[in-house]
Amino acid sequence: MSQTQNGLLASVDYYFDEAARFVKLSPDLLKQVKAVNSVYRFQFPVRQRDGSIQVISAWRVQHSHHRLPVKGGIRYSPLVDEEEVMGLAALMTYKCAVVDVPFGGAKGGVQVDPHALDIDQLERITRRYTAELVKKNFIGPGVDVPAPDYGTGEREMSWIADTYAALNPGHLDAFACVTGKPTTQNGIHGRREATGRGLFFAVREACLQTADMKVLGLAPGLADKRVVVQGLGNVGYHAAKFCREGGAVIVAVAEREGAIYKPSGLDEDAVLAHRKATGSILNFPGATNIPRSLDALELDCDILIPAALENQITSENAPRIRARIILEGANGPTTPDGEAILLERNTLIIPDVYANAGGVTVSYFEWLKNLAHIKFGRLEKRNALASARRMLQAVEWASGTTFTDVQRAELMPELDEATIVNSGLEETMVSAYHELLATRDREPGIRDLRTAAFVNAIEKVGQSYLELGIFP
Ligand code: NAD
Repeated sequence: MSQTQNGLLASVDYYFDEAARFVKLSPDLLKQVKAVNSVYRFQFPVRQRDGSIQVISAWRVQHSHHRLPVKGGIRYSPLVDEEEVMGLAALMTYKCAVVDVPFGGAKGGVQVDPHALDIDQLERITRRYTAELVKKNFIGPGVDVPAPDYGTGEREMSWIADTYAALNPGHLDAFACVTGKPTTQNGIHGRREATGRGLFFAVREACLQTADMKVLGLAPGLADKRVVVQGLGNVGYHAAKFCREGGAVIVAVAEREGAIYKPSGLDEDAVLAHRKATGSILNFPGATNIPRSLDALELDCDILIPAALENQITSENAPRIRARIILEGANGPTTPDGEAILLERNTLIIPDVYANAGGVTVSYFEWLKNLAHIKFGRLEKRNALASARRMLQAVEWASGTTFTDVQRAELMPELDEATIVNSGLEETMVSAYHELLATRDREPGIRDLRTAAFVNAIEKVGQSYLELGIFP
């Protein structure tokens, strides 16, 4: 394995080429599936608090137009560059295909440090970025639909929706131009937690595969598995929360300022409260400080969740990583060289291109809700409850028993939006995992889940190009 470049696009292309060896599509068609379709690079000025003008670099990349709209988050980071946005956009195409979300892939980047800006500056930058996208038709419900990514969240999505709606007066579907909005602003219940919840469904399903767990030397099931989480932002926080609630023990958390280790278990809410009060996760009561954040990745644990940045597991630190399962919350946290070392040791890598697809899955549900202009469950909720009630009464009459209120509540769950969204997400993650397993076990050459995921994605995207009738 000679891959040495750590750029994200180079890594994604490398994984594509590895998987393409197992796909029976023509070389021309493979070239088209891999190609980045559009890159919009632009600069715009923003006035600073001291009156000076800062010129900001920004991008929106649409990797694949085989399905429209294209979809992908917007990243605010001082380190973001064109190559990274292109790699992230490509990853989005394959991710959507893996979980059968009918979008092409896209990604946005704004080269700013959100932690160094105040809320007014962030709002000005976000609104101007949106206006630039509108100018070139790089945003819209049927064109390109952004979402949150590293450094952005519900607040920024709300500004984007508002700016787009203001520039498109009377546009009935304007709010479907972006997802990840607050629930009060045409968002959907469950989107905030979706990526972390999806990670939990993914790792829970992985741990249920008895034969795979045997290879790893682990007992089946998530209960008591020791977890290390890098990054306690949207993805890491929710992944930690759902894994802990699912029976796992969060033994360490790493953030920008360092890491903390507590073998008896950490509570993510308590850690965040401590950080809010003291400005750091360090010196958390009962935990040991680890000054260099990256060292936490090498702690003794069963599951490592990198949920911060790319290129965290490389050929340099991979030999010292002891986790038996890597659950990739971040995009591109493992370089190809790092992965090769881990695979040699039979580490199970649940790859980003599948594992963190919960966010885009629920974004898809939000987009559907915005286009339908109705909350999920509104039409059927009462009817579903009435039929469940009739069914319970029939069982009571036939059996001569009477259910308690607690039993009734369990047997007649409320069909509210969050329940519907979460069950749709669970179905998506569980069935996609089994598609990966089926592909991995299809041919002896496919040894790992990342290759399996790329094979599935390339086949699905390739199939949609074939249906267009352009390629032989
Ligand atoms: P976020 O900004 O909410 O959180 C990132 C966290 O990582 C922050 O708390 C930050 O302080 C921390 N961090 C930064 N550098 C670190 C370091 N060196 N060590 C430890 N922690 C560090 O971002 P997010 O939305 O949670 O995204 C995190 C990753 O997940 C990104 O790679 C993103 O592309 C990916 N992702 C996000 C979503 C989503 O729905 N938000 C979906 C799919 C993938």
